Amino acid sequence: MALADPTSILLVFSGLISLAWMRIGMVRAGRREQALPVFIFYALFSAGWAALAVLLRLSEMGFVHGFDSFALARFALYFLLGQAVCFRQLTRQFSRQPVSSTRYWAAALLFFGAAVLLYENPLHLPVFLPVNAGYGISLYQAGFAVILLGWSVFQGGSILLTLRSIRHERVPLHRNRSQYWGIAVVLETLAHVLMFSRQSFAGGVLHILAGTLVAVVLRTYALPDLRQVTRRAVTYLATTLVSAALYGLLYLALHSAVRAEFISLPVVLLLFLLAGALFSPLLTTTQRFLQRSIMGERYDARQTVSRYSQSISNILDLDRLASSVVEQVRAVFDCTHGALIVVHRGLYAPEQRAYATYDLLPFTGDGEAQNVLHLATRSPVISAWQNDNLPLTQYDMDVLPRFQGMDAAERAALSALRMDVFVPVFAKHQWIGLLALGPRRSGERYYADDLSLLQTLADQTAVALENARLYADLMLRNQENERLNIDLQEANSELARLDQAKADFISIASHELRTPLTQVIGYNDILTEWLDGNQLQPDSARGMLQAVRRAARRLEEIVDTMFDVSRIEARVLELSCAWISPEQVIEEAVEAWSAGIKDRGLSVTCQGIDDLPALVGDHRRLVQVFRQLIQNAIKSTPNGGRILLSGAVLEPQQDPDTQGLVEIVVEDTGIGIAPEELERIFVKFYRVGNVLLHSSGDTKFKGAGPGLGLTIARGIVEAHGGKIWAESPGFDETALPGAKFHVLLPIHNPALDQYL
Ligand code: ADP
Repeated sequence: MALADPTSILLVFSGLISLAWMRIGMVRAGRREQALPVFIFYALFSAGWAALAVLLRLSEMGFVHGFDSFALARFALYFLLGQAVCFRQLTRQFSRQPVSSTRYWAAALLFFGAAVLLYENPLHLPVFLPVNAGYGISLYQAGFAVILLGWSVFQGGSILLTLRSIRHERVPLHRNRSQYWGIAVVLETLAHVLMFSRQSFAGGVLHILAGTLVAVVLRTYALPDLRQVTRRAVTYLATTLVSAALYGLLYLALHSAVRAEFISLPVVLLLFLLAGALFSPLLTTTQRFLQRSIMGERYDARQTVSRYSQSISNILDLDRLASSVVEQVRAVFDCTHGALIVVHRGLYAPEQRAYATYDLLPFTGDGEAQNVLHLATRSPVISAWQNDNLPLTQYDMDVLPRFQGMDAAERAALSALRMDVFVPVFAKHQWIGLLALGPRRSGERYYADDLSLLQTLADQTAVALENARLYADLMLRNQENERLNIDLQEANSELARLDQAKADFISIASHELRTPLTQVIGYNDILTEWLDGNQLQPDSARGMLQAVRRAARRLEEIVDTMFDVSRIEARVLELSCAWISPEQVIEEAVEAWSAGIKDRGLSVTCQGIDDLPALVGDHRRLVQVFRQLIQNAIKSTPNGGRILLSGAVLEPQQDPDTQGLVEIVVEDTGIGIAPEELERIFVKFYRVGNVLLHSSGDTKFKGAGPGLGLTIARGIVEAHGGKIWAESPGFDETALPGAKFHVLLPIHNPALDQYL
């Protein structure tokens, strides 16, 4: 009897199915996925409900005895509430949101607790709760109301979550999965409503369907596309209707033929022939028409491939190639955007003797530079593309267990590209790129035939991409060569300049030495002549001897200068240091040129020099530096110009050892220095302008020297641990922009203590 009761059989079946779901949950849980413990609980509650419902049914039918039907019905309700609680959690996990916290479980327990308190009445409250005079509700009603409320809250939560994920999901494959989930939620909700109203059979059927659908959705990654399934069903139905109509017409034709009594074998045959000839093309046309209008216009794969290969075959520029590729795939698949991603080997990890990263450089075809993505070589996506040559969808990366271990930053970088599918491009068995497509405008997914067409297009891209990559490499190398050429040219011109400097030195040195030597020889000859002719006058002889002496002094000076340069070059400049007064140094340096300054009508002003503190340095050498700078200022400034010497203390207390720096600036109102000369003038033998304008006087305007003064000045300042440099707005003999020479000297350079 019980065996003949369909409801009981269905309930037993439902219980068994629930146990099977549990099994699925456990298998998946073994694969370390967190979604499934909740599913196991859901299945447990479901099995529990089925067991109680069977017992209730059997005891109501009098097949089993000793059970309190009311208690069984109550327990069944607890199990329904349990299912709703678990289902809401499952939905949350399904929509890839973090599982709710302990607060969620606490709320669930609260509902359970309240229901048990009212229903089971462990506190022995009065069974009838008065609400208002004369009115009241029984504890049982209150318990039922609490369960119903809890169920509505949790089941409502599932419905809302699913609706939200269907509405907001951008990736079509995710949306498809959510739609399946949506069907399961609707079925489950209806099932529970029926169960609450004690329609166990219908409720059980829907519940089995819902739970099985949930199990399938959780287990299967590649669910058939709901849209496509619906479209196929509609097409099939419509075609069936058309063929039924055709057969109906044939029947009517035969029928009227019979009626008209000209039914004869030839007529029947003729009708069948006619039908045979017409049916097949009519059906195919109808099918094609329906397919086109319902499924949307599909591309012609062969034509697409040939057009694609033609359009990209001759492009060498990566940007243009990408733009052509993206334009083509957008036209075919109607996607919002796309990219050609060039893959390069990234960092080499010598300790692993392998490349640690791959660099992915997307070209979107709109000429905008994109960020390079660095993906670890051991990243699961890299192995899918490189080793398995697999086209990957964003959905695969989100859902497949293989990609669950992906680095979060890599996942975020890839999904920031907003692509739906990535197809690897291989050339000569080497992975060189990816063809990436964004979502389609229609919201449709990429079907298997789309992916296979994309794979063909990716294969067609290989040669063009490889050529473009090689071409880009070549261009890069060309640029590198050009740069090296420029370096070489610069080195060449530097060599030529040095060569010129050497030649200049020889001519300057011979010029510089010849003048005093000629004087010495000339005076010597005159003196000899006078001596021979007994015409020697003591006064004129003394004057001549003084002139010889001056010339000899000049020779000595030139030789000293050259020695200084060679000492500085060999870094063997000896200093004799003491605590000296910068003021005295400047005074002595100016004093050396007082006659020249007067002759040329120049004014020399000092500012802040007398406030400068004493410093450790070589007095004689520093006088030499400032003599040179003042001499240069005099020579560069036309008559009546100004020379300003200013002093200041910089960074006074910064370093207790050096005690700060003294800065002395020699500024003039002369012809100035061109920007490109500002550094060169410190180079040995370097002189601006014509080298043959040699020492034409110590203080003459634009008088030239041997081109060693600033070299020596820099050598001396640097030997003190200081710095010297020139500043000038430019060279102009009429506007007279002037020049500034800065000298920085440490107050106390500990390295000079050895010379103290
Ligand atoms: P020189 O012995 O020729 O004076 P320097 O080394 O002292 O050699 O100077 C090198 C070149 O720097 C000079 O030929 C001159 O053209 C330029 N120069 C130096 N000081 C100044 C200045 N104050 N104004 C303009 N040009 C200057």
